[in-house]
Amino acid sequence: MDATSLEQRYSARNYHPLEVELTRGQGVHLWDVSGRRYIDMMSAYSAVSFGHGHPELLRVLTEQAARLAVTSRAFHSDRLGPFLERLCTVTRMDRALPMNTGAEAVETAVKAARKWAYKVKRVPQDRAEIIVCAGNFAGRTTTIVGFSTETQYRDGFGPFTPGFRHVPFGDVAALERAMTPTTAAFIVEPIQGEAGIVVPPEGYLAACAAVCRKHDVLLICDEVQTGLGRTGRVLASDHEGVRPDGLTLGKALGGGLLPVSAFLARSDVMDVFEPGDHGSTFGGNALAAAVGHASLDLLMREDLSANAAAMGRRLIDGLRAIDCSAIKDVRGKGLLIGVEFHASHISARGVCERLLAAGILSKDTHDTVVRFAPPLTITADEVDEALASIAPVFRQLEAEVDALVEA
Ligand SMILES: *Cc1c(COP(=O)(O)O)cnc(C)c1O
Repeated sequence: MDATSLEQRYSARNYHPLEVELTRGQGVHLWDVSGRRYIDMMSAYSAVSFGHGHPELLRVLTEQAARLAVTSRAFHSDRLGPFLERLCTVTRMDRALPMNTGAEAVETAVKAARKWAYKVKRVPQDRAEIIVCAGNFAGRTTTIVGFSTETQYRDGFGPFTPGFRHVPFGDVAALERAMTPTTAAFIVEPIQGEAGIVVPPEGYLAACAAVCRKHDVLLICDEVQTGLGRTGRVLASDHEGVRPDGLTLGKALGGGLLPVSAFLARSDVMDVFEPGDHGSTFGGNALAAAVGHASLDLLMREDLSANAAAMGRRLIDGLRAIDCSAIKDVRGKGLLIGVEFHASHISARGVCERLLAAGILSKDTHDTVVRFAPPLTITADEVDEALASIAPVFRQLEAEVDALVEA
């Protein structure tokens, strides 16, 4: 059996991949087993921000793997401290707690917020509440799907962790109304990624920060997807000059090579953790720290945030210029872009299948939205190359929709 048949035979059915079997990657390009080349406009859900096979990251990975990889946090390593210093400097946070996946970083944020509420804010025991937004995505652990509003993510997985309350995304008045004396934190994505690249009204995050400060509630930005240059600034919260009380990072932090995540916070928040309170066997290992450190160096040295802003503008302008009445909206910031289609006309999955046939790898989210989030290293020529492949697909859709309407 070929690899895809083996996967279909032996894998759990928790994914429905597009029909392509990839074998090699370089920069923004991927190749399938037949040697066909694609442009990666998905970057593994924004994890591959530096492109595939970045030589500097590969060098750090292999050299560090050969020297020292995993020792656990039972001991110090010569890699962790320098990595955390760089991480805190880049994000202007006081302290960091390294984990592996984004979901673990968010779980860490939940634990920190609750403990802060009991130890510092003096909320009565087991009464702390965390406010989250409708449409949030923060991973797949039971606690996290418990505060999701997505039916499929929850269905069959209860009972769930109590202590979460929902408000609509983008509505600061609703946030303030939901706050009580037992509210510990508000966890929010500056732009909702998995919900379909939902950009809130301008000034929303800054207004949330003010309301949180007023009510002594922690503002925790989940920047696992929006962070590290993706939206055209180092952090998406930088767009509104917001410095959150807590921050989660992941995805691109591992340079597209390893799972590396972190929860970062002000000292007075992070200091609620004492030895033994929380941990992870692999969290902060020397290999992850070295690759994370190199990823941050690359991000800053090559000013990839600025490239994301410029290339994002080029891509979004190019997408908007394509005349296609099946498109309802083109939106996003930096290189986190969503194209929403009219639901009645075509499924986003169908669009992705056609894009695949045209040499473009992308991913549908929520039935109607196609995401375009290429590596931040993408060049103007590569954006133009992608647009040249995308435009005929959208124009063909246009022709089919017209035929449908006339029939
Ligand atoms: C992807 C994502 C997560 C979860 O990350 P995993 O590494 O898949 O666990 C958390 N928050 C946001 C905003 C994400 O986009």
